[in-house]
Amino acid sequence: MNYILLGPPGAGKGTQAKNIVDKFGLVHLSTGEMFREAKKSDETISKLVASGQLISDELVVNMIKKHLLKEGVKKGFLLDGFPRTVNQAKSLDLILKSENIKIDAVFFIDLKFEEIIKRISGRRICSCGASYNLYFIPPKESNKCDECNKDLIQRDDDKEEIVKNRLDVYESQTKPLVEYYKRQGFLIEIDGSKSESEVFKQISENIKP
Ligand SMILES: [Zn+2]
Repeated sequence: MNYILLGPPGAGKGTQAKNIVDKFGLVHLSTGEMFREAKKSDETISKLVASGQLISDELVVNMIKKHLLKEGVKKGFLLDGFPRTVNQAKSLDLILKSENIKIDAVFFIDLKFEEIIKRISGRRICSCGASYNLYFIPPKESNKCDECNKDLIQRDDDKEEIVKNRLDVYESQTKPLVEYYKRQGFLIEIDGSKSESEVFKQISENIKP
């Protein structure tokens, strides 16, 4: 049981990855998590991340390879956050081939960009920990927290311009990847506009233990 999870930012990939590994006992190979870990122990990576430089394909691929061979082979794995480009996918193919590992399916959680922008740029948080979405879970009074009445905040990462930039990067790099897996017959498209539990159901139905 080896799977890859793809999808645009804001499509709920993180939540679904957690649901999948919990239910099916897969090893969660998340590049985000690996980088957070590596930053603590690896000076080269720590410096790269701190300087905001792009992490090279070679470095990401080596990191994935190390984790994949160490933890992922026997139990089955879910790759999350990797590959991001067709080049990375080709490197992954080489690793899998040399280790005689097969991918069972690539799940692609699809969601329209207008919906993603609403989901992310509509987010508002309060310093008390409460969170809102102007489109889906609006506060009772405009821009005030229902719990403590403080002004709500929008994270810089959630600003519409930033979200649009992230979607542009996604469109140019990850969309070709979706086509790449479609041509190979691995792609299973998941309707990301449905509720969290319905999205999980769509994915689970396609996992065969
Ligand atoms: Zn509050």
